[in-house]
Amino acid sequence: MEHLLSQLNSKQREAVEFCDGPSLIIAGAGSGKTRVLTYKIAYLLEQGLPPYYILALTFTNKAAREMKSRIADLVGEKKARQLWMGTFHAIFSRILRNEAERIGFTPNFTIFDSSDSSNLVRLIIKEMQLDDKVYRPGAVHNQISRAKNGLITPGMYAQNREIIEYDRASKRPQLFEIYQRYQNRLKAANSMDFDDLLMYTNILLRDNPDVLEDYRNRFQFVLVDEYQDTNFAQHLIVKQLAELHHRVCVVGDDAQSIYSFRGANIDNILKFKSTFPQTQIFKLEQNYRSTQNIVNAANSLIKKNKEQIFKEVFSENEEGEKIEVVSAFSDFEEGLIVANKIARMRYEGHTGFSDVAILYRTNAQSRIFEESLRKKNIPYVIYGGLSFYQRKEIKDIISYFRLIVNPGDEEAFRRIVNYPTRGIGDVTVGKISESARLHNVSLWQILSSPLQYNLDVNRGTARKLALFHELINGFIADNETQNAYELAQTVLKNTGIVKEAYEDLTPEGMSRAQNIQELLNAINEFVSERQEQGEEDVRLVDFLSEVSLLTDQDTGDDEGNEKVTLMTVHSAKGLEFNHVFVVGMEEDLFPSSMAKFEPRGLEEERRLFYVAITRAKKTCTVTFARSRFRNGSTNATRESQFLKDIDPRFLLMEQKALTPARDELADGFWESLRQKRESSVFVRPSSRIPVSRTENSSLKLSEEAGQLKEGDVIEHERFGRGVVTSIEQSGGDKRAFVDFDSAGQKQLLLKFAKFKIV
Ligand code: ATP
Ligand code: MG
Repeated sequence: MEHLLSQLNSKQREAVEFCDGPSLIIAGAGSGKTRVLTYKIAYLLEQGLPPYYILALTFTNKAAREMKSRIADLVGEKKARQLWMGTFHAIFSRILRNEAERIGFTPNFTIFDSSDSSNLVRLIIKEMQLDDKVYRPGAVHNQISRAKNGLITPGMYAQNREIIEYDRASKRPQLFEIYQRYQNRLKAANSMDFDDLLMYTNILLRDNPDVLEDYRNRFQFVLVDEYQDTNFAQHLIVKQLAELHHRVCVVGDDAQSIYSFRGANIDNILKFKSTFPQTQIFKLEQNYRSTQNIVNAANSLIKKNKEQIFKEVFSENEEGEKIEVVSAFSDFEEGLIVANKIARMRYEGHTGFSDVAILYRTNAQSRIFEESLRKKNIPYVIYGGLSFYQRKEIKDIISYFRLIVNPGDEEAFRRIVNYPTRGIGDVTVGKISESARLHNVSLWQILSSPLQYNLDVNRGTARKLALFHELINGFIADNETQNAYELAQTVLKNTGIVKEAYEDLTPEGMSRAQNIQELLNAINEFVSERQEQGEEDVRLVDFLSEVSLLTDQDTGDDEGNEKVTLMTVHSAKGLEFNHVFVVGMEEDLFPSSMAKFEPRGLEEERRLFYVAITRAKKTCTVTFARSRFRNGSTNATRESQFLKDIDPRFLLMEQKALTPARDELADGFWESLRQKRESSVFVRPSSRIPVSRTENSSLKLSEEAGQLKEGDVIEHERFGRGVVTSIEQSGGDKRAFVDFDSAGQKQLLLKFAKFKIV
């Protein structure tokens, strides 16, 4: 036991050793909250508590994996594997599968990801002939999601006067009807969306006292990381499960609560003691992660928030370097600067690429960093964005799997009924779907008994539908005998998908074929891994339940560690890196323009910035650009107000972007990328000329271009500052050769170049 406890400080140790009642560990970033949870689980196991009596909930699959592997190091692989450890969604989908009949589902229900859910909402809005500018599908889905996270069922929704009034006032009186239909459709399809996993767990526990009793007895210890980001539905599950033994330990930091837009409620942590009056509260104050400068800077920032629990956080690590603030001339230059800095860190031997993370506010910002890193041959991995499993070819195949496992799955049906093309058009699908709605059955049931449901299609179409039905039924039969990998191969072969993919020799086609191969590899690995663990029969449904729980945060490939990490600040929660770049620190981006007008929104953005800075162990660099290409045009931007919130003693303001890093950027390559970007669909030609909105950025097609001479210093729209080394005339065109601080040497065609002389 002592070998575990000796790796903790005295406060952490107290928290680990306290096992007889509820406890709450509330502490700042990097103070060892996750470490306490990990060691506590190891401690409980060492004391002889069987692993399957322990329930440990994390926010992301990645966090669960990391915790599990740490516990395996401490107490052995076997015990670690038997823990009930995972995300809320993963654990509760497992329970729901065990108990599916109780809530009117079958155990093979499928899970809709957020794009499936949005598609269904869009379809319902269309069917109801509502204006999708008023009933914007994204916003409608959000509202449904919020209702579910607040455990408001469609029935309750329709009766809640406050909500109905609100919907009326916001000119969307039909919302409850959409919600009702959406929920009916999911049910008819034997499917759940992400929010249902929490809502149905609550319903299951509420309506089935024996089930509740069973799980309460089983989970003798309940532990939850990142409790500040739980919503009402999650809190209620924890409460119910822990009410018998009262052995529950939650950890969190109110200063890192960043999910209120998804219904997370900081009160869950603030009022934990009133839920469990015997709660012992532990505070941890020493930060082991970061240098003193980083901790002090983060403290000074978060002090600007009014709503917070007072906490002292200090570091006894080295003082470290100040937080460097770098201003770039443009978003493009920002990308170059960061890539150059990373290359230099590596070159000077400070660091490996995997020690570095670039954190941004929105996924859209990743593109520029990808370009600049690629140019410098720096390997990187992106978390979030369009994940592997969201790619069209992969989703299509997965939809076959979903339909085989759960023929009721409406979204899956729609995706593949005419893929690969088999002459079943939209009109036919519309008829099937209309009939399904009329009889309140699934699309598959209509297909199975078209006569019984009077499906009105001509003979040719009827024949095509029957063939499709037969194809899927064949797979359903194969599913009885083949394991996941074998069945996947059968599906690819018998549908003709494989043939089609391999015959397409265009670059896109080849990349599709590669992706399909990668999917097969993943299934194969999944099967072997499970078999190694002693499971003989590894079914498609097992593979599906795993992949359908992957979220944005989980979608990076973990292979090959020598890579720079790119992710949003939200995804970076709980993680740490030696070197962190927080980029795009500009007004309307970070803080986001949506949060600005509400003090609470602004405080949440400030907490988000706090999370970003506190991911850094050794150095933290904050960058912003003075002009940025967004929504189709380049606009002048201002630095984020949050930069002024940090005590300047902990900052190093770098005026000049970078010392010259002469590298031979391939002009043509960049120029073509840039042009591609600027001429993308949503750009009107007139907006391609940079605007000059504020006095500090008066860029225009330079009238001074004609007078430009050797030795002049210019500020270029993208490349930033540079010195003109020579000017040449060729044909009618004048070119300037410029030596830029960060972008290196470039030629500019003066006719087009956008710069000013400084
Ligand atoms: P966050 O709020 O960001 O989630 P946290 O409070 O969960 O942070 P941890 O991730 O548990 O903090 O710890 C931060 C780092 O400090 C980790 O690398 C951890 O291993 C290390 N650490 C924590 N406590 C100790 C200790 N007593 N001795 C050595 N290292 C420690
Ligand atoms: Mg943590």
